[in-house]
Amino acid sequence: MAQPVSFTKVKISSSFWDPHIQASRKESLPLIFSRLKSYGTWDAMRLKWKKGDPGVTPDILWDSDIGKYVEAASYALYHEKDPEMEAAVNDGIDMIVGAQQNDGYIGIYHTLVEPGKRWSSLAHNLELYGGGHILEAAVTRHITLGCPENDEFLEAMKKYVDLIFKEFGPGEGQRHDYPGHQEIELALMRLYDVTGDHRCVSLAQYFIEERGRTDPPREGHAWDIAARARGDDPDTFFPYYWPRPRCYWHMQAHAPIREQKEIVGHSVQAMYWLSSVVDVALATGEESYLDTVETLWKDMVDAKMYVTGGIGSVHIYEGFGPRYDLPNETSYAETCAAIGIMFLTQRLLKVRVDAKVTDVMELALYNALLAGISLDGKSFNYDNPLATVACSHRRSEWFKVFCCPSNICRFLNSLGGYLYGTDSADSTLRFTVHNYVGGEVTVGKSTWVVDTQWPWHGRTSLSVKEESEPIILRLRIPGWAKSYKILLNDQVTDHEVAYGYASLPARTYTPSDIITLTADMTAEYLIPHPLVHQNRGCLAIRRGPIIYALESVDQDPNIPDLRLVRVDGNAALVPVETAILDKPVICIRARGSVIEPLPEEKASFGQKDRVAKPVPERSVDLTFVPYFAWGNRGPSDMRVWMQESSIRG
Ligand SMILES: [Zn+2]
Repeated sequence: MAQPVSFTKVKISSSFWDPHIQASRKESLPLIFSRLKSYGTWDAMRLKWKKGDPGVTPDILWDSDIGKYVEAASYALYHEKDPEMEAAVNDGIDMIVGAQQNDGYIGIYHTLVEPGKRWSSLAHNLELYGGGHILEAAVTRHITLGCPENDEFLEAMKKYVDLIFKEFGPGEGQRHDYPGHQEIELALMRLYDVTGDHRCVSLAQYFIEERGRTDPPREGHAWDIAARARGDDPDTFFPYYWPRPRCYWHMQAHAPIREQKEIVGHSVQAMYWLSSVVDVALATGEESYLDTVETLWKDMVDAKMYVTGGIGSVHIYEGFGPRYDLPNETSYAETCAAIGIMFLTQRLLKVRVDAKVTDVMELALYNALLAGISLDGKSFNYDNPLATVACSHRRSEWFKVFCCPSNICRFLNSLGGYLYGTDSADSTLRFTVHNYVGGEVTVGKSTWVVDTQWPWHGRTSLSVKEESEPIILRLRIPGWAKSYKILLNDQVTDHEVAYGYASLPARTYTPSDIITLTADMTAEYLIPHPLVHQNRGCLAIRRGPIIYALESVDQDPNIPDLRLVRVDGNAALVPVETAILDKPVICIRARGSVIEPLPEEKASFGQKDRVAKPVPERSVDLTFVPYFAWGNRGPSDMRVWMQESSIRG
């Protein structure tokens, strides 16, 4: 099993990634902290709030907001000192530890606002989700501090976990329930990784097994039982963010895990859940879990994923819709869901090193995920549409549900953990490169230097700083590369390809050895799946891992609406090195056309439908920007899929 190389072994030094990571540290995290302070979220953990106090009543989400900030900042501090951030993290930890109740419970809402109702509404509130994020923060802080013997934060969270071990399970007197929004399962498995406490696996597995089951001795669905116990009628009760009562599919709880054949419901929840399912499958050997994961993964990737790697096509419930139904303007494609794809793919690569999985990881990383944060780190996307009209979508520096900003910061500051894997083959160390990001990585006895201009240029070179032990080097060949070349010291070298990865024969590398991979990054048009009716007759543009979009700020000012623009699938796609807000990028220039009003319509386009006749078009020059970089230059419109022109530019 190829284990991911820990972020603690990776030092990123990348002209592409460093500015994003720095923006998250210097701008996003201080901004998030100040927002949590000013909104009252942060200090609520001091448990001073009383009923009748002015201001906002503490929300069930706030535990997760604090936990995610502490976790994201802990990752950042591991890489770079920052006294103010360190003080904030320590304050957060002191507050959390101080907020722990005698029995181990931690949770602002049920300590202050509804103290008698703990664990009573797990289906729709985020009690265990919040606990999970604080637990993940404790595990991350523990790792970033070098796993100290005495770790007050981790000890507090172990006490919290002891409480939920006691509270939940199949035994008499225990609660036979599980959380709506999955997260605690992931956190338990991370605690297991650092403590080896197998009770974590057992409880995570209990939550996975119970989900959606109604068979005896259960007396129905756990959430129907819980609703009745608190005085709600399950046939009529539903919080505003559920589509309807008893929509347990929204939380992937409509059927037991082994009976689920389609990916449904809230897309972030689905990704967190499936990630934890892989974790538990690998810890227990429960292979039937992996069958379900593979079935749902295939459904998602084949029929429910946007060309950007975004998932979640139904805005109203933030989740998956029918197969091949992928609206552009109303897509949800939550930033957290793209981060969830990172979690899931990282785990799937433990099961099998397969470039089809890594290609999806890379696609979501450079597109759906990275679009979630502005280039300056000062604003965020919660949802990531693939087209906008009338400048309807703007980044924001604050959301009432504040999940995405801190989530993307914790991801960016742990990116090193998503790049490499190691295992052994016939007792020889094998080093796998999943993603090409400049920097250094320590594997076995040696430190590897990765030099690359990815994603703008397809050449990557690898070398060792000191002589390595015998090692099998395994490199991902991206699925989008029409051709590639692997050289060892400028000579074509033998390699075997399996599942899209090229394995070089075992070798002891010395510092004079240079291995290079060159992947063809020629820009190309993509056509949509024929069943995706929203994109019929449209084209999108991809160059290497980057998906491109047309943004109105770059176009001829005489184009009144991007919906009028058409592209020519035969026109040359010309890469142009430029910059957006000082960020070096490669844009694509191409000839296209724009629909003109018929003479009798003048400039009005006022006549909605008309008898079919040729539509006048005029040729225009078009500039396409990387999708992740759109929305950074004031109000603008954007489109990824463009109608194909009937004329040739
Ligand atoms: Zn989110």
